[in-house]
Amino acid sequence: MAVRTGEEYLEGLRDSREIWYAGERVQDVTTHPALKNAAQSLARLYDLQHQPDLKDVMTYPSPTSGARVGMSYIMPRTADDLVKRRHMMKVWADATCGMMGRTPDFLNVSVMGFASHREFFAQCGPQYGENIWRYYEYIREHDLCLTHTLVPPQIDRSKAASEQADPYLVLGVVRETGAGVIVRGARMLATLAPFADEIAVYPSTFRGFQGDEQRYATMFAIPVATPGLKFICREGFDLDRPLWDHPLGSRFDEMDCVAIFDDVLVPWERMFLYNNVELYNRTFGATRHLAHIGHQVAVKNIAKTEFVLGVACLIAETIGIKEFLHVQEKLGELVTYLETIKACVRAAEVDAEPNAAGVLELAQAPLHTVRLMFPYWYPRMVELLQTLGAGGFMMTPSQRDLESPVGPLIERYYQGANAAGSDRVKLFKLAWDLVGDAIGSRQVLYERFFSGDPVRNMALRYVTYDKAAVTDKVKAFLETY
Ligand SMILES: Cc1cc2nc3c(=O)[nH]c(=O)nc-3n(C[C@H](O)[C@H](O)[C@H](O)COP(=O)(O)OP(=O)(O)OC[C@H]3O[C@@H](n4cnc5c(N)ncnc54)[C@H](O)[C@@H]3O)c2cc1C
Repeated sequence: MAVRTGEEYLEGLRDSREIWYAGERVQDVTTHPALKNAAQSLARLYDLQHQPDLKDVMTYPSPTSGARVGMSYIMPRTADDLVKRRHMMKVWADATCGMMGRTPDFLNVSVMGFASHREFFAQCGPQYGENIWRYYEYIREHDLCLTHTLVPPQIDRSKAASEQADPYLVLGVVRETGAGVIVRGARMLATLAPFADEIAVYPSTFRGFQGDEQRYATMFAIPVATPGLKFICREGFDLDRPLWDHPLGSRFDEMDCVAIFDDVLVPWERMFLYNNVELYNRTFGATRHLAHIGHQVAVKNIAKTEFVLGVACLIAETIGIKEFLHVQEKLGELVTYLETIKACVRAAEVDAEPNAAGVLELAQAPLHTVRLMFPYWYPRMVELLQTLGAGGFMMTPSQRDLESPVGPLIERYYQGANAAGSDRVKLFKLAWDLVGDAIGSRQVLYERFFSGDPVRNMALRYVTYDKAAVTDKVKAFLETY
């Protein structure tokens, strides 16, 4: 099967999945008022794969079937492969202004990276190495969309999984059957779940299990529409509000859900790592996970930062503040974030090295820099936008106001230095979705946390960093006098 069209993707979502929204089971995520627009946005990404001028950017011939498959599945073996993958990911990131962090490429590169370390999973048993490889080929050939869930629910963080009030609050194995394993419990978040074909259950970077907590230490993937698997959505941001009023919130709410596994069967062939605390806790490091997923994240961050910078520059021009020194300084700060991320991506690509299977892995140090700094840079970008737009964010009447008897007053009194009233309002409403509306707040929270706790991530960087090179230099200097 070749790459899917948007309509084929949407058709795949019309199944028996159990998605709960505001107390009701969603009958069809492609038509539900809070979900349909995001589904359409994702469908457009699939359609881009069929745009004739983008064919070679978005797809490549499958090494097994020869059919055109999505470029984000490519197992990169040359520097050119990495550049091609970046170009493809940028097309998708730009299509959502960087607001959908979990476009399908996020997990496509992730599963590919795991498959390129199949020998790691084979340490758990040869079948698990085979399973991850076959799964990679399966999602590539069927052009599937995945969500993933890593973190146990936030019940009592001072206690281990096995010490919680009930041993099955945290997702764990209940029993084995001939067909597979029955699992029960919850995982805290699965962004994109209503719009995904499959859910992957992974280890998180540092939230491991201990000693005898084998039952929790499993890694697998199953269809979202598996019996017993339930997803409970948070409140949506896209409550049928007009596109003009909320251009980001009405299109790019990728939705976050709690995943509840109510005695769910995981077939053996979908198990990648089973009952093995030691391997589970080492998965991210041993498979150099950041080497691929960090690429997608950084490219998305480029798209997002470009978008914020573009909005900031237009605000400065529209209200005549661009000649003020501190405004230029703030815009320069945004430019610097953007150029730093771009430099890190190029450095990571140029310094990529092959793994044992000959698959190129990006240098991790520059990707760590992006991963660790963006949780601080993105909230700062939003703060800078707020500082530039100031009270102007409150001069944001709705489209209905513009069409009402006060419309002419809005055209007159809401005008900018070089913009008609309606154009200035349009720009500021877009900016409000970034800085003030629920979707903007969620974006800030997302960038702070989606890649793990920023505090522990940063501390881990220090702990694992090779410090001898710098301390030896200072010691040598101390010896000179
Ligand atoms: C918008 C959004 C989307 C997300 N999407 C996904 C997804 O699709 N899939 C997924 O798996 N996850 C997802 N996540 C979850 C993300 O992985 C977690 O938020 C992140 O790992 C932090 O864990 P936590 O939220 O449970 O915070 P906690 O670990 O509960 O931390 C809460 C606070 O307590 C502190 N703290 C807790 N424990 C310790 C400790 N042991 N030592 C020191 N300090 C501690 C933290 O520093 C923090 O300040 C998403 C998160 C957000 C916000």
